[in-house]
Amino acid sequence: MKITNHQNSRDNKMKKLAALLIVIGTLSSFEPYSAITLRHYLAQPIHTVVIDPGHNKFFTGTKGLFSKEEDVTLEIGLRLGEAINKTFPNIKVVYTRTTENSVEGATTLKEDLHDRANIANQSRGNLFISIHCDAMPPAPGGYYAKRVIGHKKKLEYVGKGSKKHKKWVNAPIYESYWVKNTTIGATTYIWKAQKETDKINAITRKDEETGGEEFTDSTDSANRVDWDTQSPEAKMMAQIYEQRYFKKSAVFATMVEDEFEKAGRKVWGVKQRDKGIQVLEATGMPSVLIETGYLSNKEEEEYLNSEKGQDEVVQNIIDALGRYIQYLDGVKAPSSAQTSDSLKK
Ligand SMILES: [Zn+2]
Repeated sequence: MKITNHQNSRDNKMKKLAALLIVIGTLSSFEPYSAITLRHYLAQPIHTVVIDPGHNKFFTGTKGLFSKEEDVTLEIGLRLGEAINKTFPNIKVVYTRTTENSVEGATTLKEDLHDRANIANQSRGNLFISIHCDAMPPAPGGYYAKRVIGHKKKLEYVGKGSKKHKKWVNAPIYESYWVKNTTIGATTYIWKAQKETDKINAITRKDEETGGEEFTDSTDSANRVDWDTQSPEAKMMAQIYEQRYFKKSAVFATMVEDEFEKAGRKVWGVKQRDKGIQVLEATGMPSVLIETGYLSNKEEEEYLNSEKGQDEVVQNIIDALGRYIQYLDGVKAPSSAQTSDSLKK
């Protein structure tokens, strides 16, 4: 299997090199249309967005009063894909799942997450968006609690054995009351940057699978070099890419939070997490996990299940994506202070 893959990747590299030489040859001679096409291709910073609706019916997420996370994330994910197709027709949308079933029939959670990352890497995604919903314990909607609202005199037995006797005591009067689960709001997560991370391995792996594409930015594709991904140079490049991906992930996540806030949503900011988001680390591309809101809050659960709410969440992400593309184009770069300010550890 490995040999075949390696040969395939070699073949791919050769094919790409041949194609590139043909294009360069054409450019230098007479075909102006190809020049425009190539320039457009190189200028387009995002070719493929991978949408990852969190969980599925086997590896379930959180629950609200009437809905399940795995259903809500699928609905929002599919809507987001449609909206990207409509707004950015040049961008290809790839889903990690479009049904309630596990990704590629995975039987363990680890396998499921691994398959999601594989789909993203094999599709050469430029951006990975994982959709989730949050919950705050102890119960969705709320719960009954007791509180003391006064005292009354009560005759009680006190003491033990022969010393047992009746006594008037001040007994509390309880009232049971409803505690609403009030936590609302959206949070975006990016992985926590570390020195030797899975992210670097993912970048190297993706490079092997895609024939060296990842070690060339859209701006310098013409200077493509054939990389040995195990070489020290390649490992260094992977580290540089990890830093770049980290920055891009933080920028996009900040923009998503910003759009949610503009729409009047409560936001918790961009957070870094190293546990529970393996799927982000295993993808060789900028990756963001969006907790779109709390299913444990009655109103937010209704909002996230409504057409209006889902459309709004999707529109917020689309607006952020538009800004992110502009940012990548260098048209409108947010200041680095703006980005780092919103990064809370
Ligand atoms: Zn989740």
